[in-house]
Amino acid sequence: MTALAPSRPADLAALARLMAGPLPVRFIAGGTDLLLPGRPLPRQGLLVDVSAINGLAGIKADGGDIEIGGATTVAALAAHAGLAKRFPALGQAAAECGSVQIRNRATLGGNVANAAPAADLVPVLALAEARLRLMMPGGANAEVQLGDFRPEAGGLVMEAVLPAARLLPRSAFAKLGPRRDLTISRLNMAAMGEFSNGRFGALRLVAGSLGPRPIRLGRAGAALAGRRLTSAALRDFMQALSEEVDAAIPGRASRNWKRQAIRGLGLDLIARLCGLSPRDPLFDEAL
Ligand SMILES: Cc1cc2nc3c(=O)[nH]c(=O)nc-3n(C[C@H](O)[C@H](O)[C@H](O)COP(=O)(O)OP(=O)(O)OC[C@H]3O[C@@H](n4cnc5c(N)ncnc54)[C@H](O)[C@@H]3O)c2cc1C
Repeated sequence: MTALAPSRPADLAALARLMAGPLPVRFIAGGTDLLLPGRPLPRQGLLVDVSAINGLAGIKADGGDIEIGGATTVAALAAHAGLAKRFPALGQAAAECGSVQIRNRATLGGNVANAAPAADLVPVLALAEARLRLMMPGGANAEVQLGDFRPEAGGLVMEAVLPAARLLPRSAFAKLGPRRDLTISRLNMAAMGEFSNGRFGALRLVAGSLGPRPIRLGRAGAALAGRRLTSAALRDFMQALSEEVDAAIPGRASRNWKRQAIRGLGLDLIARLCGLSPRDPLFDEAL
């Protein structure tokens, strides 16, 4: 018999009172990670369901910074028209998370706090240089860069803020897993950049599943930035991607296949970013 007590606060003020109280608090949102068989739940304290907290879910993407509530479901991210316009990579990543049932339950805050290396939303949030608004134990608010967030500190992710000043006009996401559908990423990538009249401007890329946290792919971005989209430029890009893998996981058994696989994934990602078909002859010529 455990002494873990369930709680379902209706608003953030009620949650702040629980956070200021004597009992340790553990959150549950969709439960798609927390309730997996074999995951031990704490034996004491409060298990606080944050999925029904008023104001904790929602997306604001109509100009200025993009703000996404911590309890926003992955399905809502995938379906949001304003987000698809301002920062399509996040909606694309959401659309490729799990199944319909998982997406309807799973939340942005859960994806961030679960901190799995294979998480699909986290690299995209890293690409956007997201900040997190938190409620800390004790009830005080705090704001941290995504990379500085430590789930073990016990803060509630109230909101992710994607600074408008860092968003570029185009973005895209691509992932690779053992299956085509309902698959956990073995490798994922997100890109954001400028592309018009066949030429790239700035280009930023982040990869997930190459280490415990997302990795910025500066070399690969530099291989295409400022260049025309040609098969020669794509070949340089693919070479840079393989070198990024070599640098990220030098001694790992997965290095050999990942340094090859990232080349194809990179081409798919660039096709998506540029609004082209991955079957465009340009991409075949690059291989
Ligand atoms: C079959 C299956 C397929 C999946 N496929 C994918 C996939 O393709 N891509 C992917 O990225 N993930 C996938 N997942 C993992 C999971 O669905 C996501 O990580 C999801 O976003 C977790 O959200 P949740 O609300 O269910 O978290 P929960 O399970 O409720 O919580 C997970 C952790 O986060 C904490 N937490 C929850 N909300 C907050 C908050 N607001 N602030 C702070 N801490 C919080 C909890 O305490 C817990 O430690 C899959 C899971 C399953 C079971």
